[in-house]
Amino acid sequence: MENEFIVDQLELLVKLWDLHGVNEFKSKNLAFATRALDKFPNSIAKATEDELLALQGVGKVVISIIRDVAQTGTCSDLEGILEQTPAGLLNLLKIKGLGPKKVQAIWRDLGITELDELLAACEEGKLVQIKGISEAIQSNVMHYILFLKQNASKLRLDKGHHLAEDISTLLLNKFSKVQIVGELGRNCEIISSLDFMLLSDGGFGASLVLSEIEELEEDFQNSSPFVWRGNLKGHLIPIQLYFVEEKDWAIQSLKLTSNPAHLALIGFDEMKLQGAFSTEQSIYDALNIPFIIPNMREGLEELNWASKYQIDDLITFEDLQGCVHNHSTYSDGKNSLLEMAEACREIGLSYFGIADHSQYAAYAGGLKPERIADQHLEIDALNNQLNDIKILKGIEADILPDGSLDYDASILSSFDYVVASVHANLQMDLEKAMPRLLKAIESPYTTILGHPTGRLLLAREGYPLQMSKIIDACVANRVVIELNASPYRLDLDWRFIYEAQEKGAMISINPDAHEIKGILDMKYGVEIARKGGLLKKNTFNTLSVKEFLGYKS
Ligand SMILES: [Zn+2]
Ligand SMILES: [Zn+2]
Repeated sequence: MENEFIVDQLELLVKLWDLHGVNEFKSKNLAFATRALDKFPNSIAKATEDELLALQGVGKVVISIIRDVAQTGTCSDLEGILEQTPAGLLNLLKIKGLGPKKVQAIWRDLGITELDELLAACEEGKLVQIKGISEAIQSNVMHYILFLKQNASKLRLDKGHHLAEDISTLLLNKFSKVQIVGELGRNCEIISSLDFMLLSDGGFGASLVLSEIEELEEDFQNSSPFVWRGNLKGHLIPIQLYFVEEKDWAIQSLKLTSNPAHLALIGFDEMKLQGAFSTEQSIYDALNIPFIIPNMREGLEELNWASKYQIDDLITFEDLQGCVHNHSTYSDGKNSLLEMAEACREIGLSYFGIADHSQYAAYAGGLKPERIADQHLEIDALNNQLNDIKILKGIEADILPDGSLDYDASILSSFDYVVASVHANLQMDLEKAMPRLLKAIESPYTTILGHPTGRLLLAREGYPLQMSKIIDACVANRVVIELNASPYRLDLDWRFIYEAQEKGAMISINPDAHEIKGILDMKYGVEIARKGGLLKKNTFNTLSVKEFLGYKS
């Protein structure tokens, strides 16, 4: 059983105990234990009794719960309490701003167990009747439910890739050639439909073959002899499977990976092109347009871009020299400094920058000044002993509500570089957000502006910004803009890369890794950067250590 799944199940049990108001003492202990397990660096399923007993909140009772969940995915406590809980309440428990206690009151006083009922109650202004729920909370809950409903069938890029791999495996049992097209084919940050091309002989047998794959559920009303439409069992995202003959493969590949706006931009007319092309390149040649990579086929600035630059100028993963927004066990990361640095060395990087949370982010173990001193001593020692990788002393300093950076000047000047990010007081209108961010950008200590809008894809909208002004300020103050490569964020939005580059901004592709496996999120960052045409020469972490450290000064 994966750690993440075990932690999720234990968290659910804590919430359900609190929802029903039972086992208060056990619940507190299990909550402590779950928090510690969330950071547990090794496999929870293989942990020894001594390792578990060393964690806060863990005694014999909690151990037996952890063991059951790690082995079977559930436990008798969880199964018992799930039986007493209306299924819809599990969705209510996921709403930010409503803890188990408030959900309990909503259930008890208003008899609400479903999201739709809760939405209606918000719209009718009934939620404020509950003690502890203000107008503001009610409006946030309403907004959140609408946001969820809108996004229920969509996937983040990483999830899209994982699910598409599973589907490809199923399809390759029946078809000799399968290609991902559509939004995933051009690496969009959010996927609303998973589209594939399947090689077919032009007969009508292909859809019959698909009916043999029992994991697929056809939507008969919307399917046609040329396109199968439906779902993978247990998943809401729509799937489209296009049957394509070999002779049409290139033309359909270009058509189906492109946003319709790109097809309009390049004057693509299927009728005029039919049949005569074996590669996408030859189609672009016929249209007298330079080849545009799938990621960029969005109908935005790609043709302007192609008139100035070559595909070889685009950033690739291999061009990256360093990885500079990472967390360790000093704050809320799961791996030590050394483990993270060694993982970076293994993928061929020459520097690793630690940017743990600053003290204002107490919830994430933000570093008090003494801990910074400890960390810097450890980094010096490690740098003396490590070959082939250099560790840089960075920090992810919170941008405080007034726009100043966490820590005073003497501490800020002790770092090699500073990533400045907003983590708290995220509810801002434009009038609050702009001065806050601009002040942080103007700080002489800010090297990189971290995840500029604070968005979490499909989960939280970012605060509003006039991005053009933010870009101008970054250029004027030699502040690098982060493209946070975590698939949860992918923030800066790639659509602004064109403008940022034209204005002379540098962009840093940062994984915001909280554990070793997060480092490879830079691959998503590179795909997204290529969508916006990011050049190697404008990518901050392609610089050598020396150039990196000298950039701001
Ligand atoms: Zn952050
Ligand atoms: Zn971070």
